[in-house]
Amino acid sequence: MKKSLLLLILIAVFTVESSYSQELKKLSEAKTLSASKIVEHSFNPLPYSYDALEKAIDSETMNIHYNKHFRGYYDNFLKAIENSELQSMTLIEIFGNVSKYSTAVRNNAGGYYNHDLFWQIMSPDGGGQPKGELAKAIDKTFGTFDAFKEKFENAAATRFGSGWAWLAIDNQGKLFISSTPNQDNPLMDLAEQQGTPILGLDVWEHAYYLRYQNMRKSYIGNFWQVVNWDEVAKRFEEATSK
Ligand code: MN
Repeated sequence: MKKSLLLLILIAVFTVESSYSQELKKLSEAKTLSASKIVEHSFNPLPYSYDALEKAIDSETMNIHYNKHFRGYYDNFLKAIENSELQSMTLIEIFGNVSKYSTAVRNNAGGYYNHDLFWQIMSPDGGGQPKGELAKAIDKTFGTFDAFKEKFENAAATRFGSGWAWLAIDNQGKLFISSTPNQDNPLMDLAEQQGTPILGLDVWEHAYYLRYQNMRKSYIGNFWQVVNWDEVAKRFEEATSK
């Protein structure tokens, strides 16, 4: 009797311990995309099925966006840095000096990183509102969650041509909303407002045109239904604990 109880306790402890270390592993893997050397990167799988975000993004758009556009940026980025010292650098290092490199590096490194972030900060279980420290920081900076949404939507809607809208953290730990053209992002040395992005919305026509045609505002409005606030909060904590 005593022995089997001990065995049960051991199994319970081991199970808790191993799921805890798996969580830690996941966290450190997520952290390393921008902070690991490019030679250690591989093409990341989409974290859900193509039709998982139907509330906001249709399956055909997800399929083309992930397999053609994202894949294209990834492949062309690797091609652009072939046999160069950039292979042993991190995305953070490359973005920090991106003005010194070719347009191909700028566009494709940006396209690679931006889309990877975009896939991660969405989820079929997304939507609702942020919690905890992130919610407090949003209220402190923008007044209310609705005021934040309005400002973010405005940044996304008024980006002329192709680009991105961002929620990011500056080097003082303060949140800001910005928009960048093409595949630029706030980590780049040439960005008007520099910081670490924690939420990004792709407003290129390829991201929404099949379902929404010219109605970018409807696409932006539906985006909130799939935002993975837990992932955004995780990125917020990582960026503010640096
Ligand atoms: Mn895109």
